[in-house]
Amino acid sequence: MKKTRLLLLIISLMITGLSRAQTYNIVIKGGHVIDPGNNIDEVMDVAVKDGKIALIAKNIEEKDGIQVVNARGLYVTPGLIDIHVHVFNGSNLDQQYMNGPNAIPPDGFTFRVGVTTVVDAGCAGWRTFPEFKRQTIDISQTRVLAFLNIVGEGMRGGPFEQNQKDMDPKLTAEFALKNSKDIVGIKLAHYSGRDWAPVKLAAEAARLANIPVMVDLGGAVPALSLDTLFMQVFRPGDIFTHCYAQLGTSRQSLVDPSTGKVFPYALSARKKGIIFDVGYGGISFAYSQAIPAIKAGFFPDAISTDLHIGSMNGAMKDMLATMSKFLALGMDLKSVIKASTWKPAQIINRQELGNLSVGSDADIAILNIRKGKFGLFDYTGYKIETDKKLECEMTVRAGKIVYDLNGIASPVILAGKKSAR
Ligand SMILES: [Zn+2]
Repeated sequence: MKKTRLLLLIISLMITGLSRAQTYNIVIKGGHVIDPGNNIDEVMDVAVKDGKIALIAKNIEEKDGIQVVNARGLYVTPGLIDIHVHVFNGSNLDQQYMNGPNAIPPDGFTFRVGVTTVVDAGCAGWRTFPEFKRQTIDISQTRVLAFLNIVGEGMRGGPFEQNQKDMDPKLTAEFALKNSKDIVGIKLAHYSGRDWAPVKLAAEAARLANIPVMVDLGGAVPALSLDTLFMQVFRPGDIFTHCYAQLGTSRQSLVDPSTGKVFPYALSARKKGIIFDVGYGGISFAYSQAIPAIKAGFFPDAISTDLHIGSMNGAMKDMLATMSKFLALGMDLKSVIKASTWKPAQIINRQELGNLSVGSDADIAILNIRKGKFGLFDYTGYKIETDKKLECEMTVRAGKIVYDLNGIASPVILAGKKSAR
């Protein structure tokens, strides 16, 4: 017994001694840092301590880190922020994205692609949010924020999302304000009637809570006017998601399909400060829109996936595949990173996220540009070929390595949740 105690004492002294000699928990060496929020675009070292970014400098000694990451030839960026996902996964089989099987649990799909923060796009409304918080937000390592659905039941599917009686702007706004740590905006989606009331109710809730509204304009036939939405209903900072969708008669588009020109209402909306979010999804991104839009310089404000079981196994796949498409379309790497980190943080008014400022939470993605021959297609089957694709080498969340593709940390220690066996 005595011997064991002595041994334990010696080991604990050794460990304390080790961490005392080393200033940082992690030192990331030699990576090309792209941190648009701080205008950094060069090879730098990054040090992490106690969950925070401690230092970014030209040379930080390897011996100062308990773990040293070799990032030479790789890009070091803020942890990616995906502002359109569906993560209220649950076992109620008829409830679609609200505690149902169409939504997915975040940690299984985020860290492997460099994502450290997701914003759930309206799975829960005020009535169902407490359950979402308990079973997803509070137990996930991924930071999960939310747009609260204007429908009290959230995305329960079918008639639930058409029920205007369950769209209460006052209750929704009060709930959002009470839960402002988790809720960053209001969402409207899937309304199929030809009626402005749901959009106006969602916008009213957003005004009352002083947060943005994100709108998926649903499927009215003939389509509701985007000019009216942008210029009369939206305020600067409000978000139009699925911005490169081409859905025929049920949705107006940003680009005129017959001329390939960006419609004047889209240009005016951008001037006004309306936010354009990709929200890739199952059928909400078409090259027929994205190619002419990017050619005309109409870049997205936020690159996001609309992650759910349908989109992830379709053309969309994941955040990095979506970002790779914009690279292939001619958007430069820095703009692609900005639209996946700093810009989304600003859109949801969480400027403490999406950057590598000293003192901020150490959420970091280390990315590789893989060279090869790749085909990137959309849901219509249109394919473009490219020779580079983004790949995630490492993800750090709150100062801990939670994903390491090739063991570039030394020593290799991961901080993921351990299963029972
Ligand atoms: Zn969605």
